[in-house]
Amino acid sequence: MPRDPRYDILFEPVRIGPKTLKNRFYQVPHCNGVGSNRPGTQAKLREMKAEGGWAAVCTEACSVDPGGQEQAPHEVSSLWDEGDVINLRHMCDSVHRWNALAGVELCHLGLSSPNIDCRGVSIAPVGATSEWSPQTYAHAADEDDIARVQGYFAEAARRAVQAGFDIIYVHAGHAVLTVQFLSRLYNTRTDRYGGPFENRVRFWRETLEQVKRAAGDGAAIATRISVDQLVGPDGVETHGEDIFRVVELFEREGLVDFFDLNVSNLDEWGEDAGTSRFHRANHQAPFTRHIKQHTKLPVINVGRLTSPDDMVQVIISGQADIIGAARPSIADPFLPRKIEEGRVEDIRECIGCNVCILRSDRGGQMVCTQNATSMEEYRRGWHPERFDRAPDPGWVLVVGAGPAGLECARVLAARGYDVHLREALPEIGGHVRQLVRYPGLAEWGRVIDYRAGQLAKATTVAVHRGVGAMTVDEVLAYEAEKVVLATGARWAGDGFSHITMRPIPGVDAASARVCTPEQVIAGKAIGERVLVLDADGYITGVGMAEHLADRGHGVTVVTQHAQVAPQLLYTLELPNVQRMLREKRIAYRPHAWVEAAEEAGGELRVRVYDVYRDGFRRTERPVAGELPRRRGDAADVLACDTLVLVTARIANDGLYKALRARRAEWAARGIKAVYQAGDCYAPRQLAEAIFDGHRIAREFESPDPQIAAPFIRERQIWGSPVYPTLG
Ligand code: SF4
Repeated sequence: MPRDPRYDILFEPVRIGPKTLKNRFYQVPHCNGVGSNRPGTQAKLREMKAEGGWAAVCTEACSVDPGGQEQAPHEVSSLWDEGDVINLRHMCDSVHRWNALAGVELCHLGLSSPNIDCRGVSIAPVGATSEWSPQTYAHAADEDDIARVQGYFAEAARRAVQAGFDIIYVHAGHAVLTVQFLSRLYNTRTDRYGGPFENRVRFWRETLEQVKRAAGDGAAIATRISVDQLVGPDGVETHGEDIFRVVELFEREGLVDFFDLNVSNLDEWGEDAGTSRFHRANHQAPFTRHIKQHTKLPVINVGRLTSPDDMVQVIISGQADIIGAARPSIADPFLPRKIEEGRVEDIRECIGCNVCILRSDRGGQMVCTQNATSMEEYRRGWHPERFDRAPDPGWVLVVGAGPAGLECARVLAARGYDVHLREALPEIGGHVRQLVRYPGLAEWGRVIDYRAGQLAKATTVAVHRGVGAMTVDEVLAYEAEKVVLATGARWAGDGFSHITMRPIPGVDAASARVCTPEQVIAGKAIGERVLVLDADGYITGVGMAEHLADRGHGVTVVTQHAQVAPQLLYTLELPNVQRMLREKRIAYRPHAWVEAAEEAGGELRVRVYDVYRDGFRRTERPVAGELPRRRGDAADVLACDTLVLVTARIANDGLYKALRARRAEWAARGIKAVYQAGDCYAPRQLAEAIFDGHRIAREFESPDPQIAAPFIRERQIWGSPVYPTLG
């Protein structure tokens, strides 16, 4: 189909200095957790976006300082030497193959550089500890230090041109060294790099001059600007004078060819990469839309934009000239091409969960909930839109239309298999149907919407809804060649958790005063005073607490963790979660677990112990006929009307076990194999359940798709000069 003319404006070229963007779609710098040390992974991740129609594709932050500026265990790129040039050249060559531009974001973290690996000492406007790594103390830079670091930027810019980059940034988003010099919060110097605006902007301005000189005409020069650090008038503010003066100065002096805008300080990075729980699409507009009034240069705006209509509005309203995207480009590398080809309904929209950030910030490689192929382009050879046709596709029964089953059925069908997807309930989606009812998680429904749309288009899939839970006899009678069970998981109803590895005495979700999250969403009666017992530390405990507080219940979260939902630190949500807990008066009891509960006096009395004072596994030695004996002081008794259990997820593997027990009958029924996909094999994060369904379908002809097939491992092997080639 031709593209809708309404979207023509998105495909207009934009001039950026010596280069031209072929359209307005731009992948802004974003981390992937591998940097320049895994060149194949880096190159193929970025190339996929170039193939998918993005006019420019950038690296993540790229370190310039060989003396000590890295973010270990968080891997980023570097341009310290010829080796980095060689590795990043793969990315540039791969991106150029699709007539896209390659960009690199030169960065010095300054105060915030942890230097865990290299043990170097970073510099900063003043000597202080890092926000990210309080054990790290930066050296207060003198003018020699400043000149040395600016020289590193210039060297890195020369290497960037050698590697083939078309766009070179000086990073000043968040609170990196350039912004630390500009910000009164960080910069209290009294020399010519501190004090009035002209002095505070000097480091940034001189650095740009040197980078521009080093790059010559070989690359467009950009700077990413945090237009508001969200720290008040001492920092950079959208409506303060500094940021407008920066933009006007850099344009007047011809130092940059375009601006890339965002908001936030390092400790509020979640206001930049905002999750859908707290931020709608284009949420940065109130901060960024004023900048265009101060410059004629092109401006990039980000804000998790996935709708072409929203993008058009950003352009025609004068908010920005170029649509910047990180997460929407991860979730769907082919987003521009789908708009171009009139296939808007095929866009796999980012759900704003920030699991991509969670994984890379913990030192692993990025993953994506929506796009199982992200970061698997090189090592597994997966393409997000193309699938190898199975050599001899047969027909497959998939039991369960939750996220793993939906994804498995989608990919099997794309590979030519005939698929029957059978769902017990009237609606597909599995536990995502419940998640979307948690406060703020409605966008997670895109997981279902995308897959339902693709399955509706597939000609070889039949989706049967509301068929009830299949029995082993029904599965055998189906006589499918292969069976994939994707029957999901459930929350434990007896308080079992990894903390005690035992049920909690007196706790049973079959009783009136104890609930699982599924029961809460299903409408089981909840009393006025609620305890949420959360071992999980991710979205469900806090989701239950907010859901119930919104309905007028008094809620206390009991958790063994130091705070509620610590995993959400890595999705950048914790500051907003903490604000929400305070606003909604949700109490919490950290470092605590439940020893036992008993109903008495018309309430539930829950005995809570301190996991540090009394030990994590206090209930290991119960005394027959009594509540377990305490090892420390008296446990507290918290009275409540309802206890909600967010303690452990249990695999729904009963059907698989029953089928295994009748394995001798499989051959007579024509069944060659039975596999388990997603949470029924092992309950995991949503991203992993979807990945599991996808991987099994991709590897369906392997000797045992239940176990992942080998993949390319990028690593240094002594005596082996090359990795497998980059095609
Ligand atoms: Fe979007 Fe979540 Fe994928 Fe990140 S992991 S790109 S937030 S869908």
